[in-house]
Amino acid sequence: MSSTEYQALIDLSARIGADPALVQAAGGNTSIKDGDTLWIKASGLWLAHAKERDVMVPVKLGAILEAVAKDDPSAEKAHVHVDQALAKNGLRPSIETTVHALMPQKVVVHVHCVETIALAVRADAEQILAERLKGVAYAFVPYCRPGLPLARAIHARMRPDISVLILGNHGLVVAGETVAEADALLTDICQRLASPRRPAPVADLAALSRLALDSSYMLPANESLHGAATDLENCRIAAGGSLYPDHVIFLGPGFMIAAPGESAVEMEDRLSNPPPVLLFPGKGVLVKKAIEPGPLALLGCFVDVASRIPEGARLGYFTPEQNAELLGWDAEKYRQELNKRGPASNDPAPARHWSGYGHLGRARRGDGRGRPGCRQRRRQAFELQRRSPRSRGMAGGDARGVDGRAGRDRSQRRRRHRGRRHVWHGFTGGWKRAAAGAPDDV
Ligand SMILES: [Zn+2]
Repeated sequence: MSSTEYQALIDLSARIGADPALVQAAGGNTSIKDGDTLWIKASGLWLAHAKERDVMVPVKLGAILEAVAKDDPSAEKAHVHVDQALAKNGLRPSIETTVHALMPQKVVVHVHCVETIALAVRADAEQILAERLKGVAYAFVPYCRPGLPLARAIHARMRPDISVLILGNHGLVVAGETVAEADALLTDICQRLASPRRPAPVADLAALSRLALDSSYMLPANESLHGAATDLENCRIAAGGSLYPDHVIFLGPGFMIAAPGESAVEMEDRLSNPPPVLLFPGKGVLVKKAIEPGPLALLGCFVDVASRIPEGARLGYFTPEQNAELLGWDAEKYRQELNKRGPASNDPAPARHWSGYGHLGRARRGDGRGRPGCRQRRRQAFELQRRSPRSRGMAGGDARGVDGRAGRDRSQRRRRHRGRRHVWHGFTGGWKRAAAGAPDDV
């Protein structure tokens, strides 16, 4: 392999890694084959940092392909197949190594392109893709857990001419014999899959500031993130649950939506593991003061994806089992460990995940309801809030003030939950440290 071609892949990796419409946080990965060696991005690192640090790991291509052919579980533990003679950095390969290995082309680029995801989460994705990708040698792969199940599904659909994979509820894979070819194909496919973006109303910053009082939440610096909640269609999509893997990995399953008049501190009181983001329908979002770049990037991804989904489109949400397998899967545990650990962290407690999203998911999933008009939106905002666990347990649901001042009972409850919140911080924390390269060999 020429060093020029390798460097071209590094340049492309850094460029797409810096584009939030293609890659968010540590998601997405690139690879190049050199004989029996597959150089692939390391798990947990950001493509955006490809030029600043060594992010590529050498894997034995033949061994990975043999494991897939034999249905051997080692196929999804790519670190077993690292070529130790070439490995210098002690990193683990991407959890999506099998996807790259199964593509016969030399260069493979996998992105979580928001245009692709906005279509790939729809119930009618296959029909839309057939129109948009006319003339392209592509395969649509319905959602499977990344790892061996996804590898099996790709293996079953591969043909020698296929250079594009659309991964249902996940993203896009393009491949070419050169970096330039893969780059051009990526641009072409993203343009073909582009959809109009629905503009979001501006946030009610004054109301959000009041709702954040006394809590561990704050307004995000990037005001476009409020679009997750100021646009009620986006909020309704959020209420349905999780749509793609990295949402679950970085933000947890689904979203937590405030009840009418409920403040952030009140939400913290009722949640054993307050999530990194809270949605306030019609007003905007609050994020944890300790939020890391990864969850922030995935919040931006949600806004970008949801605002490209037409009103009333039927969507395929993850089931609770699919959420759980993403969070409990060994390779994901590794990512989470990388995420969680920092120089000062010796906390071995596994991340706990809050519950309470299921009822929102069931309310939305596959209901195929008609398009809501503008006049219906205020009513929908109320309905979203009414369905939240907090409001279900209340008589009126709106008797509390929005100033968020904590009373004595609330303070006691917060003290009780403090330990568990600490566990949550462990889960979301650490991406910045991981990206900077501290714990490379977890
Ligand atoms: Zn992916």
